Amino acid sequence: MVASTIPARVPKRRSNQVSEALMHLLVIEDEPKSAAYLAKGFSEQGFSVECASDGETGVVLATTRSFDLVILDIGLPKQDGWSVLAQLRDRGTRTPVLILTAQDAVSDRVRGLDLGADDYLVKPFAFSELLARVRSLLRRGSLQTVRHVRVADLEIDLLTQHATRSAKRLDLSPIEWSLVSYLVRHQGQVISRRLLAEAVWGMHFDSSTNVVDVGVRRLRAKVDDPFPIKVIHTVRGMGYRCGPDV
Ligand code: CA
Repeated sequence: MVASTIPARVPKRRSNQVSEALMHLLVIEDEPKSAAYLAKGFSEQGFSVECASDGETGVVLATTRSFDLVILDIGLPKQDGWSVLAQLRDRGTRTPVLILTAQDAVSDRVRGLDLGADDYLVKPFAFSELLARVRSLLRRGSLQTVRHVRVADLEIDLLTQHATRSAKRLDLSPIEWSLVSYLVRHQGQVISRRLLAEAVWGMHFDSSTNVVDVGVRRLRAKVDDPFPIKVIHTVRGMGYRCGPDV
């Protein structure tokens, strides 16, 4: 007899994937086989990849073109990776840099991070690990580039996860923060209760519960009630919309 099992209800994962289709990587690597391997691997994952085979070309590309991330080898002709990194940071290029190197001395790692590298991977490595680290840096980078989002005088800081109105910090619970940041990031759109239930509470919407409406009401008490301009609006029969009151 086969024992029956009750399938566990798996909460839906929040969508925090970075859209990689638009992500441009610069690979600065002189070893043709390694460069080709990285270019192929990242292209297959939907990234657009450019390669530079020496440090000088790498600096020119990284400072004159727009990339989301630089993968930088240390042993390079013309200019080594340390010098490339130092130049990029000196010139104010803040693109995340992941260093690839055969050297595994703690002092090298410290040196790289001191010079402004964002991560460090020692060769040989599994492509899957490099990919995971690249994705993690891109998520961080994308948060930094759109760190502050505003609606009227409501501002959310995606890095520190604080919300302010009229420059005064709002005291929000974690769920209230998730809700306000979701609404502000999707301002102008009508957001259904179902979508909010899934995105903010990670649950399937059940019309018999009013958890979303209660959550919005609590949020409004802090975000809207004390202020003349309302930013969270009810769209009858549909859901909610965030935007300045007009
Ligand atoms: Ca090399």
